[in-house]
Amino acid sequence: MLNIVLFGPPGAGKGTQSQKLIEKYNLIHLSTGDLLRSEIAAGTRLGLEAKKQMDNGLLVPDEVVIGMIDNKVKEHRHAAGFIFDGFPRTVPQAQSLDKLLQENGTEISCMIALRVDDEELTTRLLLRGQTSGRPDDQNEALIRKRVMEYNTKTAPVADYYAGQGKFRAVDGIGEIEDIFNDLCQQIDAIKDRQENKK
Ligand code: AMP
Repeated sequence: MLNIVLFGPPGAGKGTQSQKLIEKYNLIHLSTGDLLRSEIAAGTRLGLEAKKQMDNGLLVPDEVVIGMIDNKVKEHRHAAGFIFDGFPRTVPQAQSLDKLLQENGTEISCMIALRVDDEELTTRLLLRGQTSGRPDDQNEALIRKRVMEYNTKTAPVADYYAGQGKFRAVDGIGEIEDIFNDLCQQIDAIKDRQENKK
């Protein structure tokens, strides 16, 4: 399986690039943010609980997102692979993901980070807020809080994968197509390596 963690702060372009990558490589897109927003839209108890943290720019508890991912991985156990978008966001989430993939006879192939600076992120998210309808994109203080959550709790996840020799990064500023091509180059190299191991 080809299992990619697409990494980067809010507004880095993970959702946009995930859509293009799943098409090219025939992968399943798992975005915990999207899954949580579906729960909110459906008015489930999980959604109502998560909304409190999301509206405050904070991470929802690890066990909530791990449970959702566990269900989805099992549901798609015969897929060619997954793009994890917005997950894992903490080191315990990364450890749980390793464990659950191992239980399903697979593993993370690599993490690829989209590098974008904080000022560019704020500009992009405020712009996205004009059309996305996402309450957490419409307030600059809240956006800065989300970026801060990322810098304190999520950035260390890169070290976790670097420790396994699985970390790569590409420049997330520029044309969408150019960034996509950079990502594909990285992924093709990983696929080649997987093929040669067989
Ligand atoms: P996103 O769409 O990825 O920007 O996520 C929107 C919000 O959902 C975040 O600000 C968090 O409150 C919550 N969220 C999404 N994914 C996770 C995760 N893996 N761990 C904790 N909270 C998450």
